[in-house]
Amino acid sequence: MTRIQPLPHIALTKPYVPGGKLKGSTGHVIMLASNENPFGPSPKAVEAMKAAAEEVHIYPDPEYRALRETIAEATGIAEASRIVVSSGSDEIIHLLTQCYAGPGDEILFTEHAFSMYRVSALSHGAETVTVPETDLTAGANAILGAVTDKTKILFLANPNNPTGTMMKVEDLERLQDSLPPHVLFVVDGAYAEYVSPDYEAQIRDLVDRRANTVMMRTFSKIHGLAAMRLGWAYMPDEIMQTFQRIRGPFNVNGLAVAAGMASIQDEEFLTKSREHNAEWRTKMMDALNAMGLPTPPSHANFVLPDFGSSERADAANEFLKTRNILVRAVGGYGLPTRLRISVGSAEDNETVLAALREFTASH
Ligand code: PMP
Repeated sequence: MTRIQPLPHIALTKPYVPGGKLKGSTGHVIMLASNENPFGPSPKAVEAMKAAAEEVHIYPDPEYRALRETIAEATGIAEASRIVVSSGSDEIIHLLTQCYAGPGDEILFTEHAFSMYRVSALSHGAETVTVPETDLTAGANAILGAVTDKTKILFLANPNNPTGTMMKVEDLERLQDSLPPHVLFVVDGAYAEYVSPDYEAQIRDLVDRRANTVMMRTFSKIHGLAAMRLGWAYMPDEIMQTFQRIRGPFNVNGLAVAAGMASIQDEEFLTKSREHNAEWRTKMMDALNAMGLPTPPSHANFVLPDFGSSERADAANEFLKTRNILVRAVGGYGLPTRLRISVGSAEDNETVLAALREFTASH
């Protein structure tokens, strides 16, 4: 009897493993594993979702015109027609892969890149090529050296998750200019808001410099809307036309539309979130370095202390769990001696730092 079999490349694809939950814990769990906004969503987004809840019996606008125009206006993009919205930016990664890469093609990313690039490449039958990193970064030259005739997409998160490191804009431009025309350059700006408003504008402008570049963004991080699953991308016309062939007509739900429109206009909330993050990111890096846990400068909303060995990192992770504190083990990203800790509320940050002080004093 023949059994139902997945395609061979699907059978080889390992699923993405998310941050997870603490099993069997009672009481308040300090969640610092998934880079979420400690302030929650913008109150204006919550109000907008409540109002939109009355209308969920009606399909959303399949073109999402109002949301795309609002994003364009808030981010200084002249042509809303070149913006797409998606169910989380994960969907953009999958749809771009589906459009441009398949069996026999290569997808390029750096050694410690966001793991969805690999999942997406493998699930579409493409080969993955990773560029080795030194000091948690791969320079433009190393990336260019890994490009072949088969390379179809280069995914680069800047800042990168889970390292928090980033490439300078001049280097991004040099990389962009030197890439052969058959390679699609995807700049993933999931953490761009935590760098600066200037940087957000600079990666936006990359898209207009050359026809090979897409910028991806998300509402899951600074906007505090992770559960709404809302992402967007800005892309050249030609890529947009290809992308639209396969985008589902109602890929974003009505509550996410309402929340996204309200949030992207709530400058007060975004500034407060950005300032809190900048203040605590520095405090956390300084405190961890002072504890003897080398922590590289982060440009995102998390820090990545090094515990010196994977045994010690695992022990620290277990110790934090006994205190109801959840952080992210990053062995799956090739960084087994480190833990990724999101910047949380002031109180949660103090608690995790105190727990780690205790741990390092005895381990
Ligand atoms: N890109 C990067 C670099 C990320 O860290 C994440 C979330 N962890 C995503 C994309 C996907 O985000 P979402 O699907 O929630 O928009």
